[in-house]
Amino acid sequence: MTGPSSAAGSVATGSVLIRSVRPYGEGDPVDVLVTDGEIAEIGTSIDAPDDIEVVDGAGAIVLPGFVDMHTHLREPGREDTETIRSGSAAAALGGYTAVFAMANTAPVADNSTVTDNVWRSGREVGLVDVYPVGAVTVGLEGKQLAEMGMMASGAAGVRMFSDDGKCVSDPLLMRRALEYAKGLGVLIAQHAEEPRLTVGAVAHEGPTAARLGLAGWPRAAEESIVVRDALLARDAGARVHICHASTEGTVALLRWAKEQGIAVTAEVTPHHLLLDDSRLLGSGSEASGPGLGAYDAINKVNPPLREERDKVALRQALADGIVDCVATDHAPHAAQEKCCEFAQAKPGMLGLQTALPIIVETMVAPGLLDWRGVARVMSERPAQIVGLTDQGRPIAVGEPANLTLVDPETSWVVHGRELASLSDNTPYESMSMPATVVATLLRGVVTARDGEVTR
Ligand SMILES: [Zn+2]
Repeated sequence: MTGPSSAAGSVATGSVLIRSVRPYGEGDPVDVLVTDGEIAEIGTSIDAPDDIEVVDGAGAIVLPGFVDMHTHLREPGREDTETIRSGSAAAALGGYTAVFAMANTAPVADNSTVTDNVWRSGREVGLVDVYPVGAVTVGLEGKQLAEMGMMASGAAGVRMFSDDGKCVSDPLLMRRALEYAKGLGVLIAQHAEEPRLTVGAVAHEGPTAARLGLAGWPRAAEESIVVRDALLARDAGARVHICHASTEGTVALLRWAKEQGIAVTAEVTPHHLLLDDSRLLGSGSEASGPGLGAYDAINKVNPPLREERDKVALRQALADGIVDCVATDHAPHAAQEKCCEFAQAKPGMLGLQTALPIIVETMVAPGLLDWRGVARVMSERPAQIVGLTDQGRPIAVGEPANLTLVDPETSWVVHGRELASLSDNTPYESMSMPATVVATLLRGVVTARDGEVTR
């Protein structure tokens, strides 16, 4: 696969001494010396030059920097809601060192001019590695394949393609996309939603939507595409990645497909692990946040918040590796796009700065994942799936210093207006979150520290 990983090595690299930190939360604290962007030494009481930047890691865990396969940065086109700079800041503060920016911008990222511009802008900001996702079809219209080869061979070296926000619903077109992607050595990521089953749908099809009189989005709309695409990938000998898996049935289908040896991978969002559709009922319900009203469109997301049993199945699947990784689906929207009638509101939630705490709450606290498991689902697996060779690497001498320091003992309260995003559509307003990102390092350069970005 061609790609920009080697080119990324030419950007700024730094030297830092991290004092007294525990890799993967295991063993006694050690010092980690980073020089020229790589881990140079791991040991106790390391001597370092007087002028080197020191990060105090006391009480903290160090993990490989997180990789988000699914982010909406809104640039170009909706810079009022997010920019590559503001989204990169949110990512660095959330512990990320690489993010994949979805193609549903304006103009759509269906050609190398757009994808190369996003790539260059990300590098200029320099807080995380921003990898543009190319559209599968021209204009996300699902009619004609985009010039995937041009995007893959451009400066951005696009390695993942998705019409996310929309499903590539035509089976013949999806088959061709998979065959083409196989030849290019790139990945197709599918937003699994059979559109003819979700016309007008705004909430999960179930008792809650029925009670509220909201048009339902049935599980089968997702599951029918998941199984179809698994079969198409099998026949094409291609890989397919399922975006934001949200149902118990999808988990069962993924398990089946993996048992058949089909090269299918999948992600789950933090919000589908933590929340369910009972939030749509408002404050009287168990899962709602403080002061939340019924029909609050802050809870509107696509695919929709499901039911308790879906959450349970998704958590177990992430622990078992049936669902491979966590992806945020960070989706900033302007206030007027969320504070309106439920049916009219845009689907999507902020996610970059709250992802880790939610994984701690839903996976680490109940014992479903240890910190090595967190590294697997938030860094190693996503890097492997998209073929990044310099991310998701072991914490070992000679490896790139893309690192995240996490204090597992501190908690914080979410306020949308305090997040780095230009939008504030977080469903977690006023909720207390466990675990804090102390610092993030990209190739040894400290990009975020104590809640502030450094550049
Ligand atoms: Zn999507």
